[in-house]
Amino acid sequence: MKKPYLKQFPDESGFFGKFGGSFVPEEVKKAMQEINEAYDLIAQNSDFIAELRKIRKHFQGRPTPIYFAHNLTKKYGGAGIYFKREDLNHTGAHKLNHCMGEGLLAKFMGKKKLIAETGAGQHGVALATAAAYFGLECEIHMGEIDIQKEYPNVVRMKILGAKVVPVSFGAKTLKEAVDSAFESYMSDLENSMYAIGSVVGPHPFPRMVRDFQAIVGIESKEQFLEMTGELPDIVTACVGGGSNALGIFSGFIDDSVELVGVEPLGRGSEYGNHASSLSYGEEGIMHGFNSIMLKDSSGNPASVYSVASGLDYPSVGPEHAYLHSIGRTKVECISDNEAISAFFELSKEEGIIPAIESSHAVAYALKIAKDLKGKKILVNLSGRGDKDIDFIVNTYGYSL
Ligand SMILES: *Cc1c(COP(=O)(O)O)cnc(C)c1O
Repeated sequence: MKKPYLKQFPDESGFFGKFGGSFVPEEVKKAMQEINEAYDLIAQNSDFIAELRKIRKHFQGRPTPIYFAHNLTKKYGGAGIYFKREDLNHTGAHKLNHCMGEGLLAKFMGKKKLIAETGAGQHGVALATAAAYFGLECEIHMGEIDIQKEYPNVVRMKILGAKVVPVSFGAKTLKEAVDSAFESYMSDLENSMYAIGSVVGPHPFPRMVRDFQAIVGIESKEQFLEMTGELPDIVTACVGGGSNALGIFSGFIDDSVELVGVEPLGRGSEYGNHASSLSYGEEGIMHGFNSIMLKDSSGNPASVYSVASGLDYPSVGPEHAYLHSIGRTKVECISDNEAISAFFELSKEEGIIPAIESSHAVAYALKIAKDLKGKKILVNLSGRGDKDIDFIVNTYGYSL
């Protein structure tokens, strides 16, 4: 009998085919190995599994429902459109799924502090929430430019008891925040744990974050079968680093279900205008792992852009690079305007205000639904749009 996919990948060194691995200084490699060993222990431990189940049910509010979008389905007149409602997960997005797992692991390892960088602040807020729950200290590094742009999230993190460290060198955004957070982590490997915010970074994070997000796929499969008696024909999700996509994909990977990752095309396919790493990138190593990435003319990570700040990352999780390279997943691009239009469409037709990130996947579903009568599309609605409404209304008004 063939081993299920999730048991085959990654291999012991954290590779998905040639992608992944751990390209970090020796000291950090050692710290990552400790995390990997601790994770192997608790992943088999029934107390840990029971604890995580309890947290998911009573703190996060899982399972999140699947919703049949009856108005959109009728309006577009083709495929049935369904949403996995991760926007209803506590804190309003899927990110808490892996942050609670990482927090529980840190607690198990006897760590006192969670450290991370954040760009728009979404990962920072989810991690600060987990730290509050577990009684851990939390230190979030954030570029000064992002602190100004995303002030409400800074306030949230502080209310939750986290220390926000402003980063004032270089371009004062995400890249510098990573360097700053990493330096802080290196200075106290003993007491702290670096908590990565997606299926990226050195081994074991791509594996661990995927496993913590897999609950989305497990629930979805069960709920979809119960609701419709069948599996969906297509499952789709937006891809930044790729955690919400792998979460839902992993539930269907051994089935004959089409899996489609949606990347942000921003203002267009010219250099610097998008963040479609898989569609336009090439192989390279960045942030400790080998994957497909966007590079500038001297081979460094490219400057990227998307209207969705959770998607503007110049690389992508190594497992996405692998699944795409073997043809198991497809990748499509959605522009800023298509995403914003889908944002208004879902809000006005179904009464659900989605995150701009998630709106990319919604836009793809709307784009293909018309020609797929009799089929069923399941979209991972990764988060809610409360965080985006000021920006949207100030930029576009009340419709596109
Ligand atoms: C952060 C974020 C994303 C992108 O991250 P992935 O790791 O690609 O899932 C998508 N949607 C929302 C709502 C987010 O907050």
